[in-house]
Amino acid sequence: MRVPFKLQVLLALCRLEFERWRYERNPRAHQRTMWKRFGARTLARSPQYAPDADGSIADFAVQGKVEFMRDFDDINTRGIKLDEAMSVAMDAERCRDFAPTVSGITVGLSSGTSGNRGVFLVSEKERAYWVAMVLQRILGFSLKRRKVAFFLRANSKLYTSVQSRLIQFGFFDLLQPMQNHIARLNSLQPDIVVGQPSLLMMLVEAQHNGQLNILPSRIISVAEVLSPEDQRAIEACFPVTVQQVYQCNEGMFGQSCAHGNIHLNEDGLLIEKDWLDATRFVPIITDMRRMVQPVVRYKMNDILHITECTCGSNMIAISQIEGRTDDVLKFHNERILFPDFIRRAIIGAHPEISNYQIIQESPSKLALFVSPSIHWEAASMALTELFQVQDIADIDIQRLETKRHLLGSKFRRIHAKRH
Ligand SMILES: [Zn+2]
Repeated sequence: MRVPFKLQVLLALCRLEFERWRYERNPRAHQRTMWKRFGARTLARSPQYAPDADGSIADFAVQGKVEFMRDFDDINTRGIKLDEAMSVAMDAERCRDFAPTVSGITVGLSSGTSGNRGVFLVSEKERAYWVAMVLQRILGFSLKRRKVAFFLRANSKLYTSVQSRLIQFGFFDLLQPMQNHIARLNSLQPDIVVGQPSLLMMLVEAQHNGQLNILPSRIISVAEVLSPEDQRAIEACFPVTVQQVYQCNEGMFGQSCAHGNIHLNEDGLLIEKDWLDATRFVPIITDMRRMVQPVVRYKMNDILHITECTCGSNMIAISQIEGRTDDVLKFHNERILFPDFIRRAIIGAHPEISNYQIIQESPSKLALFVSPSIHWEAASMALTELFQVQDIADIDIQRLETKRHLLGSKFRRIHAKRH
């Protein structure tokens, strides 16, 4: 018998409540139970993982996106082939059909750069969990009818499935021009706005110059790094606290708590830490709630800052998602600079600096965009001083007149040279 989707969401909600409670009571025992269940129910059905399904996590290799896609056919538990899934997903993207499926499984295309795109698979049950997670940990319960403006690069069945009498989703395609969004937002008057920081900053500008006139009670930042400056600007414009969600195609990994830290959902995730220094780490994630495409020891390329949180949760707390490991600037003699150093130097150069971008063109050449441009020299000097202090010699900084940002893509403030 097919269980109606809304009932599945309700069941998932109960399960999530229970699992969170059990985790907080005894984190290690809960994770051991979850790992056993994941092994028996999911890993045992994956050709790649079945031989080690009753072993320990150390038996599995750490992987990145390349290995995850290379072994796609053997990893998934439904015998779906990458070629087939990829062609269905590409066709759907071309004709903007947002609900492609293969053997009843929803197929999504990850937003990597072209040539590096991945495919992800989600079953109906997993979608129900995702919706329950959004309701439980992000939107919260409310008997008031709420309208959500959700900005996405492409729609997906994953998101539209949240529609209900209490929550009405308005989907905004990031590929559409800003003017269309503004008109629609003014008429929709959303209670909740979900979007990437670069988009939220455009809304701040539109609200300041009077084109936009909305009063959301919640703003949720997704997909890109939210810098403290942008957060302050958004919070000053729409007087609400910005919530952050750490999520990607591989799953929903964390969200901010009432104290403003981001907790990783360890009641369903095993998080191993690849330490970069005393507080920064790159997470290696095992998602024990995935069923169709198990995510095992998947190394993300995000740099997270660990912190302590006093809100009462035992789940790992993150004060900031600093950026991607790709954003770490590398110079001659193996010198490196984390994106946060660059950010502090530029923002600290003048209080009026509201936007900037750094593109590293070679190990000794940087292009710098600063807005307002009148402060370009100050920013450039601050960077030069930073390089001197860090013992990085002979860096040529050139002026970039406009920022580089393709419509609909993630905005990257810091582009390191790929090595
Ligand atoms: Zn907390």
